[in-house]
Amino acid sequence: MAKPADTRTAGRKPAAKPVAKATRSTAETEKIRAALAARRDELRAEYDQTLSEITELQRDRLTDSAGDDQADTGTKTLEREQEISLANSILERITQVERALERLDEGGYGWCERCGNPIPVERLAAFPSATQCVTCKQLGERR
Ligand SMILES: [Zn+2]
Repeated sequence: MAKPADTRTAGRKPAAKPVAKATRSTAETEKIRAALAARRDELRAEYDQTLSEITELQRDRLTDSAGDDQADTGTKTLEREQEISLANSILERITQVERALERLDEGGYGWCERCGNPIPVERLAAFPSATQCVTCKQLGERR
């Protein structure tokens, strides 16, 4: 492992970094960064949306509950719990994407942990937490 010199410097850097092992072109790295950033924005929007739905359900519960029968209140509570667990899972995915962006800056992201080949940009955009290329993943699943 390299020494953790500048692991905290988030965001884009103007100058190219010295390359560690295998190389990916700067253009490709930028493409991954853009894909990850877009994914993060998407997830954040989804998260905000879910939060406002939770707030709404909460408000419903507080205002209408007087007229509701018990089954109705139960349904609303369940709905709210589902929304909360959805929000949590979105938050987890946002964290994954942010970690991916950090690792991308360190040059340690986007390589297959099995064969060491670069994982295609499209795959990384769809699955930011992917640690193996499709071939290796399929090999692993077949066992
Ligand atoms: Zn592989």
